[in-house]
Amino acid sequence: MLKTEKVYQITVPTPFPVGDVHMYLLKGDVLTLIDAGVNTDEAWETLHYQLKELGYDVKDIEQIILTHHHPDHTGLVSRLEHVQQIYAHPLVEKWLTRDQEYFDRYFQFFEDYYQAWGVPEHFQDVLKTMKKNRHLAGEGALTGYLQEHDTLPGHEGWTVIETPGHAQSHLSFYHSYNHDLLAGDHMLYHISSNPLLEPPMDKGQPRPKPMLQYRESMQKMLSYEVNQVYPGHGPLFHKVDYLIKERINKQEKRAEKVFSFLADGPLTPFEVCQKLFPRKFESQFELTLSETMAQLDYLESTGRVKVERNGNRLTYMRVKQ
Ligand SMILES: [Zn+2]
Repeated sequence: MLKTEKVYQITVPTPFPVGDVHMYLLKGDVLTLIDAGVNTDEAWETLHYQLKELGYDVKDIEQIILTHHHPDHTGLVSRLEHVQQIYAHPLVEKWLTRDQEYFDRYFQFFEDYYQAWGVPEHFQDVLKTMKKNRHLAGEGALTGYLQEHDTLPGHEGWTVIETPGHAQSHLSFYHSYNHDLLAGDHMLYHISSNPLLEPPMDKGQPRPKPMLQYRESMQKMLSYEVNQVYPGHGPLFHKVDYLIKERINKQEKRAEKVFSFLADGPLTPFEVCQKLFPRKFESQFELTLSETMAQLDYLESTGRVKVERNGNRLTYMRVKQ
C-alpha cells in the first residue's frame, strides 16, 4: 500500500495583484517544499516563521519541486541555497538559469505579436515592467526534469500530471492512493486561472494556444477521481468536476460574447480586448490581452472564426456559412 503523506500549507504574501501564494510541505522519505513563493524579504520571513510553527527549520528542507515557472512560485529558490535537489518541467530551467537566448526570444515574441495584433506603442511599456519584475523570480538550476506519470522523488505516492494552459511549464501532482491534488495555478477556487500567452519553449515551434491546452488539461482532470485540492492561491477545495464544468461553461459564454463583437466585421485582437474589458484593459493589459487571445484561439479552433494577415497585421473575422 502506498503511504499517505501529510500536506502542510505555508502561505506567504506577494507584491502581485493575486495576493498571497501557497507553498506546501510534504514529508515523505525526504522533506520537500512544493513551490517556493516569491523572492521578497516578507515572503522569506514568513516562510521561516510558518516552518517553525510546524516544527521545522528552513535548513530541514531537502528538496524543492515546482509546479510552474511564475515568479510567485519560484522566488525563494534564490534564498534556499542549501537545497541541492530541485525538480520541475524542463521549461522552468530556462527561467531559473536566466537563459538569455530564451529571454531574447520571449521579448521578441511579444514585440512581434503586439505589432501584429494592433497594440499601440505605449502599451509596449508592459514589457519593461515584465523585465523589471524579474528579480522577484527564483534563480538556480534544476537537478532533474519531471514529466507525465513520473513519481515525485522521495514521495512514491505522488505522480506528475502535465497540465499546460496557465503556464507552458505547468505540472500538477496527484496522490494515487488518497486522490489529493497539488494543483498549482491550474485550478483555483475563487478565480479562474488565466491561460497566459507565452512563446513556444523551443525555437521554431508554432505559437502555443494556451486556452486550447487549458481546456484539454481540464478535460483530462475529469478522468481522475480527485479528493482534496491544494491550490497555489485561495481556499482549499473539493468537487473539482463541478468546478471544471462551471469554468468551461463560463469560458464558452465569454467566447460567444467575442463572437458577437465580430458581427460587424473584422477586428484586431487589440480592438476585441478593448470591447471585452473596457474598464480593465489599460490597467491589466497583459492579463486581458491573454484572455482575449484565449477566446479568439478557441473560436478559431471551432471553425467559426478565421484569421487573416494584411501586411504584418492580423485580423479576426467570422467565417461566412
Ligand atoms: Zn501562475
